[in-house]
Amino acid sequence: MSTIDELLGKNEAVAASLAPRHLDVKPSRRLAIVTCMDSRLDVFAALGLGDGEAHVLRNAGGVITDDVIRSLAISQRLLGTRETMLIHHTDCGMLKLTDDGFRAELQADTGVAPAFAIESFTDLEADVRQSVLRVRRSEFLPHRDAVRGFVYDVDTHRLREVDA
Ligand SMILES: [Zn+2]
Repeated sequence: MSTIDELLGKNEAVAASLAPRHLDVKPSRRLAIVTCMDSRLDVFAALGLGDGEAHVLRNAGGVITDDVIRSLAISQRLLGTRETMLIHHTDCGMLKLTDDGFRAELQADTGVAPAFAIESFTDLEADVRQSVLRVRRSEFLPHRDAVRGFVYDVDTHRLREVDA
């Protein structure tokens, strides 16, 4: 049985154990979080959030790409979020590769150089600051004042704020 098949079975049990409910599409805490896809960071659990309270946008590294700006624009303009929290984390996979190296690897394996930027980083705090700046400078976002950046320690579960 594949992992996905196994999870479908688990979903049956979870759905059977929960009462149906309907939450508003607009996050009740008016908060959007951008973070890494890392499997050790359960964002809602780490922040004590409940269903329906915040948007969570994830990619490799928690990088502020054009697509993250697209999602934040929708989050703020259509769905009412006002604060933005950016969370990088210790022991991130993006610290373990280089843009040039990974690009060369993709091209060597496939014959095609990717059109996208790899966006690896070597300094967590510096990249958090860079990410905060990218959000603050995006004219597509009406709410750019309440943007804060953090590093999450995957071992201690603690968040540390990075001064912008
Ligand atoms: Zn990561």
